[in-house]
Amino acid sequence: MLIQNHLNSLVVFENLESNVRSYSRSFPVVFRKAAGAILEDEEGREFVDFLSGAGTLNYGHNDPDFLNDAIKYLKSGGIVHGLDMATSAKREFMECFDDIILRPRGLAYRFQFPGPTGANAVEAALKLARKVTGRNSIISFTNGFHGVSLGALSVTGNRYYRDVSGLPPAGVVFMPYDGYWGTDNDTSGYLDRVLADASSGVDLPAAVILETVQGEGGIRPASRGWLESIEQLCRKYGILLIIDDIQAGCGRTGGFFSFEFAELRPDMVLLSKSLSGCGLPLSLLLLKPELDAWRPGEHNGTFRGNNLALVMATAALRKHWINEKLSNDVTERARILSDRLRDLAQSTEDHNFSVRGRGMMLGLDCHAGKLAEKIARSAFEGGLVVERCGAEDEVIKLLPPLTIDKQALQRGLDILDASVRSNA
Ligand code: PLP
Repeated sequence: MLIQNHLNSLVVFENLESNVRSYSRSFPVVFRKAAGAILEDEEGREFVDFLSGAGTLNYGHNDPDFLNDAIKYLKSGGIVHGLDMATSAKREFMECFDDIILRPRGLAYRFQFPGPTGANAVEAALKLARKVTGRNSIISFTNGFHGVSLGALSVTGNRYYRDVSGLPPAGVVFMPYDGYWGTDNDTSGYLDRVLADASSGVDLPAAVILETVQGEGGIRPASRGWLESIEQLCRKYGILLIIDDIQAGCGRTGGFFSFEFAELRPDMVLLSKSLSGCGLPLSLLLLKPELDAWRPGEHNGTFRGNNLALVMATAALRKHWINEKLSNDVTERARILSDRLRDLAQSTEDHNFSVRGRGMMLGLDCHAGKLAEKIARSAFEGGLVVERCGAEDEVIKLLPPLTIDKQALQRGLDILDASVRSNA
């Protein structure tokens, strides 16, 4: 068995690395190399990657063009660390992002580079929303996931993470996300009702924070109508709308931003994960200029605007976002993925598997964590890296690189298909 053969090579991790490690438990081999959608372990065995660093590798592993730009930059003596000083690399990134992404979409934002993780961007957005509005509460949604630092955790629903916070999460009210009470029940009406009712016990919040497709919460896409209603409610009550596009953004659902299809105009947008193109830590808070109430250095951090990551982020914008090719590829590959998953769900109908998602962010809901675990484990034995999500880890989460070639896509789907059928 693959897993047994590799146990010895994992001894160092078991002895020295904290119990908190997780992905090395799900995929118990030692990875050595990667290219595109393929990971390779120390034994030379290949795995198709349908996890993509939890949405960090939308453009695949080690894109040679991004690497070339990074190597050139390093060899030229480019600044690697510069706190938040002005650097050529940061200027080039901001100009490119403005020209290639924002202006063509009619968007105008200022850039705040917080610390390098997604949670850093969440913390900055929540703090700024409270500062600007003078209100302290935030509305988040059931099954939302926004990270595990204390502020980000306070807007994250899952008890597994919340239970270890050590402090009661404060200043957040959870509302039902789209579909929480079935498809016939529009939960935005409930939000409107409690906001309008001075006696509902729900205070007027500083902001609403949401993912347009919930990732870790179980691949739950919100409908266009629901998103529009939430935006209208934000305008009606003077609440800031924060879209957390850390997992669903950077092309994952087709457009660069996941909210484009609903034509939203968020007050703040959070990006991280695939922003840097190649997996280097980089995080960005886009904020409407009129919200820029920060005083210099009031929110700071040593690692703001990782210059090497910015070089690769610029390379990714130039390679993939100056035309429609990537978005069209996502539409085509998303169809291949969802057709295959729907066929699989239909032909194993006793199990009542269901398929959800948008673009190349798809989930196969197995309705049972144990079954999903068996499927993911045997898929790994067969050469596929695929993870689970949802309240009970009951959903198989499919996030292949957007640039995956069709052969690798079919190979991954064949492995998943065989795994589902052998466990169903
Ligand atoms: N927001 C969303 C939607 C995420 O999916 C994640 C991580 O999975 C985060 C925030 C937190 O990002 P990080 O793990 O980089 O702190």
